[in-house]
Amino acid sequence: QMTGKDIATPTRTKEVLEKYGFSFKKSLGQNFLIDTNILHNIVAEADLTKEKGAVEIGPGIGALTEQLGRAAGKVMAIEIDQRLLPILADTLSPYENIEVVHGDVLELDLKALLAEKMAGVEKISVVANLPYYVTTPILMKLLEERLPLENIVVMIQKEVAERIAAKPGTKDYGSLSVAAQFYAETEVAMIVPASVFIPRPNVDSAVIRLKVRDRPPVEVDDQDMFFRVVRSSFAQRRKTLLNNLMNGLFRKEQKDEVIQMLADIQIDPTRRGETLSIEEFARLANESLRRGLIGQ
Ligand code: SAM
Repeated sequence: QMTGKDIATPTRTKEVLEKYGFSFKKSLGQNFLIDTNILHNIVAEADLTKEKGAVEIGPGIGALTEQLGRAAGKVMAIEIDQRLLPILADTLSPYENIEVVHGDVLELDLKALLAEKMAGVEKISVVANLPYYVTTPILMKLLEERLPLENIVVMIQKEVAERIAAKPGTKDYGSLSVAAQFYAETEVAMIVPASVFIPRPNVDSAVIRLKVRDRPPVEVDDQDMFFRVVRSSFAQRRKTLLNNLMNGLFRKEQKDEVIQMLADIQIDPTRRGETLSIEEFARLANESLRRGLIGQ
């Protein structure tokens, strides 16, 4: 590896930024990585090989992109900020296997783009230092569209990383945890100090690794209903499961039937929503549908 020529050193980054007179846009979540070790650690989490592809969201000036180009067979990097395009053309010119796509990742047809740009690769992973202002919408888009992904390895705010990987009964466990864990095995891979970015973000960061599942870990009859049940159960943390369900999901006159159902599926109505496992949420959603208490 040509470590001496890495983009991600403080000196080289400053040179590039000065050469192009680039000024950071806070509104685009622009905090660039200037630590090669961190980049190597991030790339290692994705298990890339020359037979695999990597998709990066927000390449900035190409610090991570370059490392992905060395580790993967093909790289597609999606960048929203037009001002970065000439910079990327310059910094990434040695890498023929990297293609930069201009656009907003939330607007692009990712399925079509993957089919077009990643043809012939064995497996695809998303590897990125995400713009923090859109972390959740980006992750939910990647997961809900059921893209053919192996791993999603992303730097995000530490607090969001902890919520994504949280287990039932902990203070961080919520509908984001259930949603992420429905689609992927989740793991906080490393905590990252603010000193490895310029400018330094005001929040702590962490790299999270999502190993995308082939199929959900539980049988769910109706996915929309499942997530409605989850959201209702978490609506007010201090309330019991029954209270939350009666407030947001069922009608008042269904209360006796709901209590009977909870007894039949062995879920205590006085528990807090945040203690339920994904399997229990699935049982609750499926049984509510089967008894005609929701749906229609
Ligand atoms: N990958 C670079 C690095 O690690 O140094 C830059 C990471 S920076 C945290 C986030 C990048 O995402 C910026 O380059 C920003 O312009 C870009 N970005 C912000 N919103 C975006 C969006 N909706 N779609 C695509 N890129 C976006």
